[in-house]
Amino acid sequence: MYEPIMLDEEKVFKDPVHRYVHVRSALIWDLIDSPEFQRLRRIKQLGTSFFTFHGGEHSRFNHSLGVYEIMRRILETFEGRAKLSNEEKLLCLCAALLHDVGHGPFSHSFEKVFRFDHEDWTKEIIMGDTKINSILRTVSDDFPRKVAEVISKTYENKLIVSLISSQIDADRMDYLLRDAYYTGVHYGNFDIERILRVMRPTEEGIVIKASGMHAVEDYIMSRYQMYWQVYFHPVTRSGEVVLRKIFQRAKELFDQGYDFGIDPVNFHPFFTDQISLHDYISLDETVVYFYMHQWRHEKDAILSDLCSRFLDRNLLQYVEYNPRQFRTENEIRQLFAEAGIDSNYYVEVDSTSDLPYDYYRPEKDQERISIMLVKPNGEQAELSTMSDIVESVCGKRRFDYKLFYPADLLEALPIEQARKIKERLKVVMSDE
Ligand code: CA
Repeated sequence: MYEPIMLDEEKVFKDPVHRYVHVRSALIWDLIDSPEFQRLRRIKQLGTSFFTFHGGEHSRFNHSLGVYEIMRRILETFEGRAKLSNEEKLLCLCAALLHDVGHGPFSHSFEKVFRFDHEDWTKEIIMGDTKINSILRTVSDDFPRKVAEVISKTYENKLIVSLISSQIDADRMDYLLRDAYYTGVHYGNFDIERILRVMRPTEEGIVIKASGMHAVEDYIMSRYQMYWQVYFHPVTRSGEVVLRKIFQRAKELFDQGYDFGIDPVNFHPFFTDQISLHDYISLDETVVYFYMHQWRHEKDAILSDLCSRFLDRNLLQYVEYNPRQFRTENEIRQLFAEAGIDSNYYVEVDSTSDLPYDYYRPEKDQERISIMLVKPNGEQAELSTMSDIVESVCGKRRFDYKLFYPADLLEALPIEQARKIKERLKVVMSDE
């Protein structure tokens, strides 16, 4: 039987969202202290959202501690209700703390261009030759594997998996509250204290006491609002587009054998798709910024311009885009090209979609764990069958398309050329 080693005195981190993050386990303390976890201080939680909401500069370090703290509180609520051994409780805490450890700089933009998944890197960091791995192995040889399995949702205990990834889990609850706090918006708020009090463990996952339904409704709606008001904000997406174009251009130049002013050594493994664990861990946002500063002075006009746009927040403008107008989009690309503006780097359609909540449907490819309410008589009911508010958004996927273009370059064109493009920008938005 594993007996956890406790610190002589509890340590606390001051946290603006949860007030305090409490650490009693020596192992958790050591994990926080590891270089791979400290690296998360240099990766922002919200990528390019700071262009839109200047407060949104908090790090993944920040968020990861928060998820850990929520998990710690859930386990407190479960005391005497769930049959979890000491090792399993520690497993929950470690998985919560480490679930995002594989994120890279500006994750989503970076992953799109270089085609990898941060979840694979999370697994690598936990299982590979790292400080984190050696700390986890002090529990047992297969403890790192268990932590990785909980995070990748393959672990045998469904309750433990659902605490980290389901439709109401420690990760989501922290990021909604935290992102709302730092961006300064109010939509993300919900009563987490109440939700934690009404959560109950079952073998299949967590259930919520029916008396707590309204707190859960509030959580689902706050999630819906945060996605559309914050995460999918078009200015944030414009920042992502510019960033993707920077990586794309740098890679293209590298492939052509271009002579960079300063050799981008940190990017070589990504350009050539031969990324070692060490290469991956060495890359954070400070490194990306370093190269952007170098590249804004490059001879290549496109790379230099894109980096200046990002650093000076001179992003691309956008219009609504109707995907049926793809022919007009091609005309716009053509017209920009005729004006000497490379539309591969300056014109982009970005699409996004969100499903606020869905109950489990076996026929759907993506398995979703329904939120189950438990009534006083012990019967369970799926959330949307009891809540009109949730029913109204349940299973409804909403899409959004935007076409991004360089408004400043467009304005600088001869009037007739600019007019042709502007006309088509109107067509691209229309429903016909
Ligand atoms: Ca997360």
